Amino acid sequence: MTRPPAVSPTTASPPGGLRPSRYDPDRAGLDVLVAEVGEATGTALPSYRVDQLWQGLYRDLVGPEDVSTLPKALRGPLADLLPPALTEDTRSVGDDGDTVKWLWRLADGSLIETVLMHYEERSTVCVSSQVGCAMGCGFCATGQMGFDRHLSTGEIVEQVVRAQVEAGDRRVSNVVFMGMGEPLANYDRTWAAVQRLHGDLGLSARHITISTVGVVPGIRRLATEGLPINLAVSLHAADDDLRDELVPINRRYPLDELADACREHVTTTGRRLSFEWALIHDVNDRPEDAVRLADYARPLGAHVNLIPLNPTPGWPTRGSSPARVRQFAEDVNARGGNATIRRTRGTEIDAACGQLRTDRTNADILNTDGSVPVPAPGRQGSSR
Ligand code: SAH
Ligand code: SF4
Repeated sequence: MTRPPAVSPTTASPPGGLRPSRYDPDRAGLDVLVAEVGEATGTALPSYRVDQLWQGLYRDLVGPEDVSTLPKALRGPLADLLPPALTEDTRSVGDDGDTVKWLWRLADGSLIETVLMHYEERSTVCVSSQVGCAMGCGFCATGQMGFDRHLSTGEIVEQVVRAQVEAGDRRVSNVVFMGMGEPLANYDRTWAAVQRLHGDLGLSARHITISTVGVVPGIRRLATEGLPINLAVSLHAADDDLRDELVPINRRYPLDELADACREHVTTTGRRLSFEWALIHDVNDRPEDAVRLADYARPLGAHVNLIPLNPTPGWPTRGSSPARVRQFAEDVNARGGNATIRRTRGTEIDAACGQLRTDRTNADILNTDGSVPVPAPGRQGSSR
């Protein structure tokens, strides 16, 4: 059987030319698929076959070939129609086993990364939503690669499934869209993935966070969806001149418009908003930056996550020192903001979210303290 499976109209289809994989079709799509396999084999299949397939994929987390309740004659054709999307290329473990990072190879040879982080109180998976990113934030390793393509819904969902398989008894409770790519630039497939994580894998919407650089129409659309997921906005600057420079999409959606969209999200969903702020030495870690940030975040009731910038080969700046990070947090809080310093995880395996697919060649030229020896700006980060 080589016929591509039907994907129901409620599921965003995979990007052009890409064959659907096992987590692409939604429940209705699986129904159609099983009926087609029945037709091809000349037997009308009872509807509980779909339940068994669904149970295998979303409860037992196995492929059709391993769904033991299905007759053997069905497993083969279904497995042919529903191949896995991800092949493990590299797997790195850090923090005494508490952080696992995967480099996955996709069917077309693209590479993406996923990180699983175990904490005492929860286990979080950080997923990618695109291969590369078109948003061009200069400090970001993914931005330095440029954009290749969107991920399909199945490619996003399977990252969580594979992390859950790895986690075993430690249930994956949280998913953050903070890996490679801008999720709101791949809105339909990202949202279909959120629905799948919530409706089929059983994750609480309150434990799913979409991180965006500030794609205002996407933020407004999220507010209409009726699932109370969390929104994280990567702010990094609270004045338009600096933000235009750090985060080019700010030229299209400046801070005032962004604040309006964020307010709408908070009012409609009742969920707390958070701002991400990567502290860059002498660029956005000055006392006046703290004041602007507090004044921007306070009226929105936003929580601020501070993290020192991770060095990337293509950006000639460095992260703020720990003392400067602490001082900045104090300044924001003294002005009535609500800032905490984010725990950094997986730094020894380059698993920091937002700079996932590290260029192995460039990684080799980093100094042992993680600083960048050749501060030449521009695109050096591509490993394609
Ligand atoms: N595109 C989305 C989600 C992926 S990036 C977004 O921008 O929000 C995830 C997070 O990592 C963002 O907050 C991003 O600003 C941050 N990030 C990117 N590069 C970084 C770096 N070099 N150091 C620290 N954080 C970085
Ligand atoms: Fe894209 Fe986010 Fe990186 Fe900006 S920070 S380039 S939006 S992945």
